[in-house]
Amino acid sequence: MATVLLVLYDDPVEGYPPSYARDGVPRIERYPDGQTTPTPERIDFTPGELLGSVSGELGLRAFVESRGHRLLVTSDKDRPDSVFERELPNADIVISQPFWPAYLTAELIAAAPRLKLAVTAGIGSDHVDLEAAIAHGITVAEVTYCNSISVSEHVVMMILALVRNYLPSYQWVVDGGWNIADCVSRSYDVEGMQVGTVGAGRIGSAVLRRLKPFDVGLHYTDRHRLPADVERELGVTFHPDVASLVRVCDVVTINAPLHPETENLFDAELIGQMKRGAYLVNTARGKICDRDAVVRACESGQLAAYAGDVWFPQPAPVDHPWRTMPHHGMTPHISGSSLAAQARYAAGVREILESWFDGRPLRDEYLIVSGGALAGAGAHSYSTRGPAGGNRPVSG
Ligand code: NDP
Repeated sequence: MATVLLVLYDDPVEGYPPSYARDGVPRIERYPDGQTTPTPERIDFTPGELLGSVSGELGLRAFVESRGHRLLVTSDKDRPDSVFERELPNADIVISQPFWPAYLTAELIAAAPRLKLAVTAGIGSDHVDLEAAIAHGITVAEVTYCNSISVSEHVVMMILALVRNYLPSYQWVVDGGWNIADCVSRSYDVEGMQVGTVGAGRIGSAVLRRLKPFDVGLHYTDRHRLPADVERELGVTFHPDVASLVRVCDVVTINAPLHPETENLFDAELIGQMKRGAYLVNTARGKICDRDAVVRACESGQLAAYAGDVWFPQPAPVDHPWRTMPHHGMTPHISGSSLAAQARYAAGVREILESWFDGRPLRDEYLIVSGGALAGAGAHSYSTRGPAGGNRPVSG
C-alpha cells in the first residue's frame, strides 16, 4: 500500500463547495501545439468544480483508495511540525500545486526514504530540489501545458489593467466616488506601445498571439529563436538579450522558468535600463525579480506599475512589501488555477497516477526527472542547480 500525500490550498473561507458562477467549463481536447489534453481512463469529478483546495482533493480519493492506497490531504506546510513534514517520511508519492507548493528541499528529501514520485499539479517544479530528487531516484512529473493558456490570459488582463489604470478606477467606484480626473491621469492606451516577453515558449508565445490584435509592437528574447515563419506571422522582433529588449519596451512580461540564469534577473540594474514608466508583469516566478528593487522602482516611478501572481515564499507573508507598494496589481498565485485549468491538471495527475500504479511509462512531456536524470520536458527546460539560497522559504 502506498501513501499519497496531497498538499493543497485551503478551502474557501465561506466553506466547500462554493456556489459556482457557471454550470461548467468549455471542453478543450488539444493544446495549440497539437498535444492532447490529459487522457486518464476516467475521472471522478465534474469539470468546473473546485478541485485544488483541500476538500476538492483533486478528485483523487475514490481512485487512490480503490487501488488500495492511502490518500492524505493537508494544507499544513512550511513549519517543522506541519502535517506535511510529519507525514513526509511515510509518503511514497507527494503531490502539490505551484500555487501552494510543498517545498521538497534536499533535507526533506533525505528524510523521506519511501518517496518515489513527486507530482506538480500544474507547471513549474522549481519547488523540488531536482538534484536531490535525482540522487534519491525520485521521479518528478508535472502536467505540461495544462494551464499555459490560462496564464497567458491573466498576463493580457494584467497588462490592460495596469496600462488602463483599471484597479484604482474600480476602487473609486467602490468608494462612492466619480473621480474621473484621478482615474484618467494614469490611464493610457496599449495601442502603439512596444510589448516584450522574456521567454517565448508556451505562455510567452500565447501572450504574443493574444496581443497582436491590439496593434502593438511585439518583441521577445529567448534562448532559442522562434521559427522564421512564426516571427513573420506575429511581426515580432527578436532581441539577443534581455537588456536589449527592456530598453525599447513600454511593457515587459516575464514568461521564462526560474533557474540560476533567471533568478534575480530583474534587479535594480536591469530595471534601471527600462524606459521610465514601463510596466512589468511577472507570472513566471517571484524570485526572477528582486523584491526590493521592484518596490523602489514603483515608488520612484521608474516602473509605472508592477503586476503578477508569483511571490516568494508562497503563501506570501502578510508584511510582504509587494502587498502595499504603490501602483501594483498583484494577485495571489491564481493565474494557472482557474476552474478550467484545475479540471485539466486534476485529470493530468490522475493520468500520471494511473500509469504509475499500472507500471506504465509516464508521458514523456510530463517528465522532469526520471531514472536518475533530467528527462522529457525537464531535460529541455530545467537545470539541476536549484535557485541560489535554496527553494525553501526562510520566513512566513
Ligand atoms: P516553456 O518552457 O514553454 O517556455 C519557457 C521559455 O523561456 C522557453 O522558450 C525557454 O527557452 C525560455 N527561457 C529559458 N531561460 C531563458 C532566459 N534566461 N531568457 C529568455 N528565455 C528563457 O514554459 P511555459 O511558457 O509553459 O512557462 C513559463 C514559466 O511560467 C514556467 O517555467 C513557470 O515558472 C511559469 N508558470 C506560471 C504559472 C502560474 O500559474 N503563474 C503556471 C505555469 C507556468 P528554452 O526552450 O531554450 O529553454
